[in-house]
Amino acid sequence: MAVAKTARVVGTERVGPDTLLLDLCATEPVGFVGGQYLILDSRIILPSGKAVKRAYSFLTGDAEQRRFQLAVKRIPDGLGSAFVHGLAAGTDISFSGPWGKFFMREGASGRTLILATDTGITAALGFLHATRFRPLLPQTLLIWLRVSSEYFLPEGFMRARIPADCGDMRIEAIPAIGHPERIPHARAILRQVLSCGGLDQAFIVGDGDVNQVLLDDLIAAGVAVSKDNVESFFNMPKKSA
Ligand SMILES: Cc1cc2nc3c(=O)[nH]c(=O)nc-3n(C[C@H](O)[C@H](O)[C@H](O)COP(=O)(O)OP(=O)(O)OC[C@H]3O[C@@H](n4cnc5c(N)ncnc54)[C@H](O)[C@@H]3O)c2cc1C
Repeated sequence: MAVAKTARVVGTERVGPDTLLLDLCATEPVGFVGGQYLILDSRIILPSGKAVKRAYSFLTGDAEQRRFQLAVKRIPDGLGSAFVHGLAAGTDISFSGPWGKFFMREGASGRTLILATDTGITAALGFLHATRFRPLLPQTLLIWLRVSSEYFLPEGFMRARIPADCGDMRIEAIPAIGHPERIPHARAILRQVLSCGGLDQAFIVGDGDVNQVLLDDLIAAGVAVSKDNVESFFNMPKKSA
């Protein structure tokens, strides 16, 4: 059973047409590792009896365990993201966590690719800012694929959050979610990275449909990856996959 924790909203900022940045202060240290997420309980109960609880990844580094940020995209007709967008400073929120296996294991090393699609950039930024990841930064390539420069987090905001010693970073456009060219496009970018050789580990986060195919490509290329190297925010893989 998940233990309910509390955090106070200490600030909110609109950083894009449909993106809210939340500054939170938890009553106790959360104990997360960069890359993990919490589950926010909106306390809304649907007529079916199901509670509206949604996952949001820690955007900020794990050196600070009480003060942290989330960035949330408003999804049309989505109850969870609408709840978040209605939050104001001074409100207390209830959450559980940390959750998830999408973080770097102690002692891992080598040339690292972090590839995020869409809102997956939150977990990628949290991952990059993990204390344990710092030694690997100079050998790291971060790629963010999103549909347009207006999507979710403004490019300037995102660039300002990349640690100065991160080896390399690319932000590129990708066809819309569900577009038939989206997956081929993402695969072509991964092929290009793989063609340079020397990739020791890779982490992929965002659109589950893209994740699944890129995971298969990485395995075929001989990169040591498992399902723990992947986090899907939507288009979730089938349980049996
Ligand atoms: C591990 C994890 C971490 C996440 N971290 C974040 C985060 O840091 N920031 C954030 O904004 N969201 C994040 N999400 C997505 C979030 O949990 C919700 O799914 C999202 O806020 C929509 O919830 P909703 O109730 O508003 O809409 P719902 O009614 O639950 O969703 C409507 C539909 O939109 C889909 N959807 C969710 N996100 C997207 C998207 N980006 N693009 C297109 N469709 C989408 C859902 O899968 C669903 O099919 C994360 C999800 C997971 C599983």
